[in-house]
Amino acid sequence: MYFSSNLEFIPAFFHIHYSNYDEKIKKNLLDEIYQEYTDSTFTDIEVEQIFFELKYGNFKEIIDLKFLNSYRGRIFSIDQLVKKKIKIHYLEKANCIEVISTIRDSKCLMCSSKNLYSYYASFDKITYCLDCIDFGISKSNEIRFLINNYKNEPCHFTIPSIALSDQQKIASDLLVENSKANKSSLIWAVCGAGKTEIIYKLISNYLKENKIICLAIPRKDIVNELASRIKKDFSLEINLLHGDDKKFLGSNFYIMTCHQLFHYYKFFDLIIVDEVDAFPYNGNDVLEYGMKKALKDQAPLIFLSATPSKKIKKSVDSVYKLPIRYHGNLLPVPNLKIHKDFNKNIFSTNILDTLDKIIRSSTNKNRRLLIFVPTIKIGEELAKSTAYNFVSSKTENRNDLIEGFRNKKFNVLITTTILERGLTFDYLDIVVFHSSHKTFSKEALIQISGRVGRKAYDPSGSIIFYSGEHTKAIKSAIKEIKYMNELAKYRKLVK
Ligand SMILES: [Zn+2]
Repeated sequence: MYFSSNLEFIPAFFHIHYSNYDEKIKKNLLDEIYQEYTDSTFTDIEVEQIFFELKYGNFKEIIDLKFLNSYRGRIFSIDQLVKKKIKIHYLEKANCIEVISTIRDSKCLMCSSKNLYSYYASFDKITYCLDCIDFGISKSNEIRFLINNYKNEPCHFTIPSIALSDQQKIASDLLVENSKANKSSLIWAVCGAGKTEIIYKLISNYLKENKIICLAIPRKDIVNELASRIKKDFSLEINLLHGDDKKFLGSNFYIMTCHQLFHYYKFFDLIIVDEVDAFPYNGNDVLEYGMKKALKDQAPLIFLSATPSKKIKKSVDSVYKLPIRYHGNLLPVPNLKIHKDFNKNIFSTNILDTLDKIIRSSTNKNRRLLIFVPTIKIGEELAKSTAYNFVSSKTENRNDLIEGFRNKKFNVLITTTILERGLTFDYLDIVVFHSSHKTFSKEALIQISGRVGRKAYDPSGSIIFYSGEHTKAIKSAIKEIKYMNELAKYRKLVK
């Protein structure tokens, strides 16, 4: 079934075997390559076996197909299977794979684009897709294999006993109802509303029916965090997939980065996309379609977000707003501090003096402070002027610094938007330094503000947008936060 050598002869045999050429041309080409092999200095029994198997079709039946479980629902190219040292023709004869052509009816099956390019090669016309090249070339003369031989086995889990707030319960029931009707839904929940718990009932229902669920998240650092939480709450094995690491544990529950969905075809009974706004979904049709094609026909798609884009809001059948945090307190509203010097020199003595006062007013109350900066360069400069620690995506010891801040080894940390979401610190205040900078979109400002007051024992805190002017993003962010608070009051949800 497997072969150990990975000489280029083997992929070449498979490419010919699975080409569109007629049988006679195929046999000739196989012979030519075999001739090259015999002329070379290599000797490898597996090259010889594969050649004779492909040429004469005589090979044994495979019995143990358990290894395929890891790959169920995924689409592979010849090269990808060869890299895994799998004899593709064995899978085909055992009906474990569906051979699919990714260019069909002048359209790309992988990304649904019609932006195709054709050229003539020696034996035929070859067409490929110009839009999804980043995910592996989709070409008319190159088929893909869909691993389709699997049964949905039950997987073991316990139903979490987590009490939901009334609002969480309404949202949770709505998702269950919508999913039964195959409707797509958006839960637009404020930061700290407890949106993960909202999907628990739905997950339990699907797992009970041995259905296959995917929870997709844009950022890989959140994949692990979310997985360990759900694993614990459900006592469930989880298949974990992101660019650097793939763990298949034979469960019906998958957590992966959104990009991984591109490799699946009509496989999941349910896809939930968390933090959908952090995904380059907006305007990126390749990724959007790539995600939808991973769903079975008619299966429901669910989005969770605190800051959904207009496009997402419009794309779903149902939107539910959850305006209150799980602990029943209103969102802290940011204050704006304007300093004209920002328009000339953002590190002027006056600006830094005021910043120092803001810092001290937090630290004197024994609170900690995150100072958000728009760029790495500004962060480095500010760290130099103030002597506080700074983290960005480029900081090598960033986990140590974040842990140090969490453990209160120091109580002021300068950061780029890498800490905009995902992490929770108690007794936290926030300054957004140079908040009029274009990095700070409305969504970013709402997410940043959403870091404050997340714990029931510390439900508020100070948020200061410190800048030279009042931008549209700042106005809209504050307006939306206030709107959610008003909605919470209107629905009488405040404790
Ligand atoms: Zn494509």
